[in-house]
Amino acid sequence: MSKRDYYEILGVSKDASKDEIKKAFRKLARKYHPDVNKDADAPEKFKEATKAYETLSDPQKRAQYDQFGEADPNQGGFGGFGGGQGFSGGDFGGFGDIFDQIFNGGARRRDPNAPRQGSDLQYEMSITFEEAAFGKTTDIRIPKEETCSTCHGTGAKAGSKPEQCSHCHGTGQLNQEQNTPFGRIVNRRVCQYCHGTGKIIKNPCSTCAGTGKMKVNKKIEVKIPAGIDDGQQIRLSGQGEPGVNGGPSGDLYIVFSVKPHKYYQRNGDDVLLEVPLNFAQVALGDEIEVPTLYGKVKLRIPAGTQTGTKFRLRDKGIKNVRGYGQGDEHVTVKVVTPKHLSEEEKTLFKKLAEVGGSPVSEGDESFFDKMKKKVFKAD
Ligand SMILES: [Zn+2]
Ligand SMILES: [Zn+2]
Repeated sequence: MSKRDYYEILGVSKDASKDEIKKAFRKLARKYHPDVNKDADAPEKFKEATKAYETLSDPQKRAQYDQFGEADPNQGGFGGFGGGQGFSGGDFGGFGDIFDQIFNGGARRRDPNAPRQGSDLQYEMSITFEEAAFGKTTDIRIPKEETCSTCHGTGAKAGSKPEQCSHCHGTGQLNQEQNTPFGRIVNRRVCQYCHGTGKIIKNPCSTCAGTGKMKVNKKIEVKIPAGIDDGQQIRLSGQGEPGVNGGPSGDLYIVFSVKPHKYYQRNGDDVLLEVPLNFAQVALGDEIEVPTLYGKVKLRIPAGTQTGTKFRLRDKGIKNVRGYGQGDEHVTVKVVTPKHLSEEEKTLFKKLAEVGGSPVSEGDESFFDKMKKKVFKAD
């Protein structure tokens, strides 16, 4: 059985908005949730939808999925499932968290004191063609939250500590009991005294006003890998937002946007270049110098070269970002017809036209015979 596309699973289009994806998943989750649907294939369908949602609801994972398809779980692309990204394991690998996110709590609310990983951040970095080709180490400054250095994240003033909320006994939830004709019903809701954190800070830290975090403009060193291409990204582990309750920090994703080059274009690891040549150069042949990323290279243009002819300069392309060899430079000849001729040039061209060119092959009309017909037909 071939794997279905994530968009297909959720029944949304490739350009579906975050909201549309969320709605589609919510519908499927309600339909196939194993607690509700006892069909034999319901758990599998539920799992499939969860996995699709987990990827498409995360902008980075979605971009990666769009570009590379389903990530190899051994490569950590799907790290979210059970592996080290703050999801607790379980049979369905972390769908409890997605439920928390989607249905906002209820019976599945997590422990407010459990360590949680900080959010991932994304930074778009604009680089030049050469920087993409050769790589570079550079510093960026990004606004982000850091753990408050005064209170080390507790949010409490020096010498004091957050206290356990006496109303909910640190659980972050209050049970409200109600006697009804059907018996006693227990309603759970978020504790309004500690706002679900389970802690009360009596003397808040003055640096962070009790939040335990502060906004900083952090300088981060970025090593642009040689060979990176437009739209590709790297992950800086642990450089995202700080975790909560001692959880690990999130990651920082740097997405590269490569500026267009004046002459070169890029196709994978190959560099494409168009060189304008005049008619004499291609008719008589010439030796020209063409630019490459590694300096100028001599290129022999054989006599009779046609416009559109391609020459390959081996290994003058871009080093593969994953270390698989090196691209080439492809030079395409473009014969340029002069727009403005000097008097001397005009005389020479006329003379050339009178003499006529050599036939392309025996029996063919000469190039100039053809030209004459076209150019002077109106006369
Ligand atoms: Zn503080
Ligand atoms: Zn409380």
